[in-house]
Amino acid sequence: MVIKSWLFSIVLFETFIYVYGWGPVGHSTIVRLAQSQLSDTAPEWILSLTPWHWHGNLSALASWADDILYPNTNPTGYDNWQWSRPLHYINIPDWSCNYNHERDCVGDICVSGAIKNYTKRLETELDDIQQTEALYFLIHFVGDIHQPLHTGFASDRGGNDVKGHYMNGTYSTNLHSLWDSGLLTTRLHRNFHSNASLYYDHIYELMINLPSEDNDNNIEQWIDDNIKIVCEHIYFDENNVTMNATANFTLGEVYYNRSISIIEQRLARGGRRLGVLLNQLAKTRPQKSSDQKNKLSSSTIALIVVLVVEGVLAIVVGIIFFIRYKKRSSEPNSFSLSSTKE
Ligand SMILES: [Zn+2]
Repeated sequence: MVIKSWLFSIVLFETFIYVYGWGPVGHSTIVRLAQSQLSDTAPEWILSLTPWHWHGNLSALASWADDILYPNTNPTGYDNWQWSRPLHYINIPDWSCNYNHERDCVGDICVSGAIKNYTKRLETELDDIQQTEALYFLIHFVGDIHQPLHTGFASDRGGNDVKGHYMNGTYSTNLHSLWDSGLLTTRLHRNFHSNASLYYDHIYELMINLPSEDNDNNIEQWIDDNIKIVCEHIYFDENNVTMNATANFTLGEVYYNRSISIIEQRLARGGRRLGVLLNQLAKTRPQKSSDQKNKLSSSTIALIVVLVVEGVLAIVVGIIFFIRYKKRSSEPNSFSLSSTKE
């Protein structure tokens, strides 16, 4: 039993080390919430941009933008995607507690710039491959921007350098990882049998009960909400002492209990806002003259024409042979006639 719980701790630790963003449960929950709200042509549009074997299940692709970055999930190609790494977050000056786009998102290289750019691409781009990539990035970045430490302080890299111990663990973790997945993992383990689908049902209930006056379209407001959580909550330990990179923290039940409801509200809001955004995009996306996926390609048409022509030729030749055979069989048999005369 001791060994089992030790192994579980190791697994958690490994999870803390490698995930980047909410972690698979948080990201897939947000995307699944969003999909639950799709209307009109949005489900058909999503289906057209996702691999056929996922049957339009966009939540299966929620962590794609993280997976491409790491050698353990993308062993031979992760180097090619490192340019996208800064698009997952915003760094603000320590304790400035406000967001300034010109100062904090130079050249749109940050998570809010990425959301705007990939939204634009989905509104204007006609190429299916470009649209698919934009969609995968967008669903992930809307998730990231609702993790408060993805709009964290620059000096400690959004809490990555603020390290310590959690729930009496013998391993070291950091503040960013706790907010990505550590606190969520505790919640799932304790109350949902580590079952992400049961947990989704819980967050779905939260989402449908959110107040209707929410700022679903205002990215700056999403960031301001995050920064408020960072400055008023995240950096204070269980004794209300400010945490920083120079000292190890010790966090447990008190910190978990006062944080988990904030995290769940962020997941619910992220899901609803992504749903609103995808429904808007399904309406405003460029309309093609015809759906390329349903349209027969020119090579397929050429093949059909060849097969039809060959079929017609085969029928004509068959008819000719049949007519000749009939003609021959109706002609008098000269051998048998002469034989009769003899
Ligand atoms: Zn991310």
